[in-house]
Order: sequence, then C-alpha cells, then structure tokens
Amino acid sequence: MAQLSNAEIVIIGGGAVGCGVAYALAKAGKTDILLLERAEDLGQATTSQGAGLCGQPRDSVERVRLAMHSVATFRELQRDPRVKPDWHEVGSLRVALTHKRAAEFQKLKQAADAAGLETVLIDRTEAKRLWPLMDFARATAILWCPSDGYMTPSCVVKAYAHQCRNLGVRIATSSLVENITMKNGRVAGARTNHGAIECRYLINAAGAHAYHVAKLAGLELPIVPVRHEYYITVPMAGLTPDLPCFRIPDLTLYGRVRDGGLLLGGWEPKSLHTDPRAYDLAGFPPEIKPDWPVLNSFEESYDGFFPAAQGAEKRFVGKGWPTFTPDGRFIIGESSRVPGFVMAGGCNAHGISGSGGIGKLLVESLLDPRPSAYVESLSPDRFTESSWKWDEARVQAARVYETYYGV
Ligand SMILES: Cc1cc2nc3c(=O)[nH]c(=O)nc-3n(C[C@H](O)[C@H](O)[C@H](O)COP(=O)(O)OP(=O)(O)OC[C@H]3O[C@@H](n4cnc5c(N)ncnc54)[C@H](O)[C@@H]3O)c2cc1C
Repeated sequence: MAQLSNAEIVIIGGGAVGCGVAYALAKAGKTDILLLERAEDLGQATTSQGAGLCGQPRDSVERVRLAMHSVATFRELQRDPRVKPDWHEVGSLRVALTHKRAAEFQKLKQAADAAGLETVLIDRTEAKRLWPLMDFARATAILWCPSDGYMTPSCVVKAYAHQCRNLGVRIATSSLVENITMKNGRVAGARTNHGAIECRYLINAAGAHAYHVAKLAGLELPIVPVRHEYYITVPMAGLTPDLPCFRIPDLTLYGRVRDGGLLLGGWEPKSLHTDPRAYDLAGFPPEIKPDWPVLNSFEESYDGFFPAAQGAEKRFVGKGWPTFTPDGRFIIGESSRVPGFVMAGGCNAHGISGSGGIGKLLVESLLDPRPSAYVESLSPDRFTESSWKWDEARVQAARVYETYYGV
C-alpha cells in the first residue's frame, strides 16, 4: 500500500469513475493526486459488475461528444501493450420495432452528425450481414454506429491505474475515508482509517456511497442506487467476439457477446431502488440475489431475435446498484457552497463507458476558468435543500431508470 501522505487532490473511490478522473487530471498536468479505495483492490464494487457496453449515439450533441471522448480514451489506453482495457471496437446495432422509435433514430442520427460521430441507418440485409444469427424481420429501422464497442470493466480500471501510476498518481487501497476536515469554510483534508491527510481538493467518486461522502461535507445530494441486472449464457456456436453490441430500445434490452455466450440485460419497467440513508458510510447497500422473474422476462422479450438463446443455460448474473439522479444527469464539479469539495457521481448506469468523458468534463470544471454551459449544468449546485425532496427524488430517479430507452 502506498504511504498516505498529503496531496493537492484526493480522490475517494477506485472504480471506473475515480480512476478515469485521476487519469484525466494527471494527463492535464495535475499529478499530485492520492486516490483512496476502501476495498483491497480497485474496481471491486459497481464497476466489477458492468456489462461493458459503450454506446455513443445519445439525444444531445454534448452527450454524444462526451461518449466520443470516452471511446478516444479507450483507444488510447488500448495502445499500451502492457495493460489494456480490452476495448473491442465492434460497432453497435440499435434496432427499432416501431415507427415512433424509427423517428427517434433520425434525431439520434442528427445529434451524431452534428457531433461528428459516424452513424448509418442500414437495412435488414446489411444488419444480417453484421450479426448473421440475429433475426431482424421485426425491425422498422436499424442504426449502425461502427465506432461503438465493449470493454472489460475490470481491465479498464487496471489500465487507468497503470497509466496513472506512470504519471505519478499515488493509489492506496484498503483506505477508507471516514470524515472530511474543513478549514475557513473550505475542504482541508480527510480522516481515513490510516490517519489524517491534507488536500486542496477532495473528489467524491464513491459510487453507491457518494451520497454518504457528500453528507460528510455537509451536502445533501439526491444520489439514488437502483438495482440493475443482466445474465450471460454458456458459450454458443456462432457467438464470436467480433459481433456488434446491440440495443432493442422498444423491448428495453441490450446485449453483446461475452466469453462466447450471450450477455443480455434490460431495464425493467418497475425498478427496485434503495434509499442511501438506509445504510451508512461504513456499510453497504442491500445484497442482491438474481431476480429470475426479471431476468427471464429479458429472455422472453428477446424471443425470436436469436432463437438459439431461448432456454440456454445461464452461467453468470451481473448485478449491482448503479446510482441515478432525479434529472438523469451526472453530478460533476466543485460545490460553490463547499469550496474544495468536488463531485464525480450520479452516473445513471453509464459510469464505465462514460468514464473517459466524465474525466474530461471534471478537468474542464476544475481547471478551465470558463467551463461550457453543459459542464455548468452538471454542477452539484443545482441541488439545494429547497430544490428537491427525497420522496420525489427517489421516484424521479427510478423513473429515469425505468424509461432509460424512453422516446
Ligand atoms: C449489472 C450492471 C450492468 C452495467 N452495465 C454497464 C455498461 O454496460 N456500461 C457502463 O458504462 N456502465 C454500466 N453499468 C454502470 C456502471 O457499473 C457504473 O456506472 C460505474 O461502475 C460507476 O462507477 P463508480 O466508479 O462511480 O462506482 P464504483 O465502481 O462503485 O466505485 C466506487 C468506489 O468507491 C469506493 N468507496 C466508497 N466509499 C468509500 C470511502 N469512504 N473511502 C474510500 N473508498 C470508498 C468503493 O469501494 C468503490 O470501489 C452497469 C451496472 C450494473 C450494476
């Protein structure tokens, strides 16, 4: 374990977001960083459960650009032969089953065009060429994004950490932040299980504990963990690692090939969320057991698209508590009410694929004297005691989850 010593920037949390932020800051020249992770290794919490998809077509130019920056980051990390994020730029197929959805794809394409992202509306024959075992008969439109792909979340974290260490970042595992110290109204440091440290900036990338860490700084933020699951089948003939990722938003499904099997996940219409106030900083959100009625409903919805997958043995269930915000936006940037306290959380279930872009936005919010209006719109300052209430925030955050692929 690295010696816990003072640093200009202390990052709390060694998941994809904390490591991605450390990498972006170090590349921007801020290398006096200490990253603290309470587990024995990095990337063991929500990140370890990620499906690893990275999709760039989004509903606004800013969000497309953010995702594009993540892809650029994964490409960059992949170039180091020693530790790679296992990035596979296999493209993605987004399949519409209704005319309303097909119209939405036109809008996604417009946003992609404006951001400079290549997407193509393709016909069923071309889609079949790209994913031969999939049946596209029901498709009303298919959007192909050739630069989308997937990575292995644990490898992404290792790749970030490897680059960070090379740039001088110190990383300490088994290091729990227990409290935040303040001086003259601004963050002055943290108290950990290994003693006190001083810092100028404290970055909260604590995932499902981001609520609790913010609370230590005196901020009440609506960061709501919502359960999410997918399954992976045993290997099946024809499932090669070069097949594109796919999304069928009308069925709220997504998938890809993983280890020769089919990974299938979805956004159930009635979510299970938890109140972060029900567990404390030292505790954990409730343990999740595979919810087979929900997982089987993904399989039933997918019926007919890939007949061989029906009834296939499921060998792994990915499950965890990604955090959602009531407005569906990340919370990124320094709090003006608690100077020195910086948020990098509320990832709305795309914190791994978004990690490169989140790092870029955080650097902009912290180092750029004139951050963009988009970056400012993600500030924690938008949540004040009078601007939201817990009961409503939980319902709204759950709704963001439930309408993830909403038109
Ligand atoms: C089933 C499932 C599938 C998913 N699929 C995808 C996907 O395909 N693509 C995608 O982009 N996203 C996906 N996600 C979402 C993604 O996993 C999360 O958005 C992302 O992992 C969040 O990363 P994080 O670093 O914020 O959180 P975490 O990975 O949870 O990391 C936070 C870290 O902070 C540490 N920590 C907490 N409190 C303290 C403290 N006091 N002191 C020190 N350390 C502390 C924790 O131990 C933890 O390691 C999926 C999630 C699930 C559950």
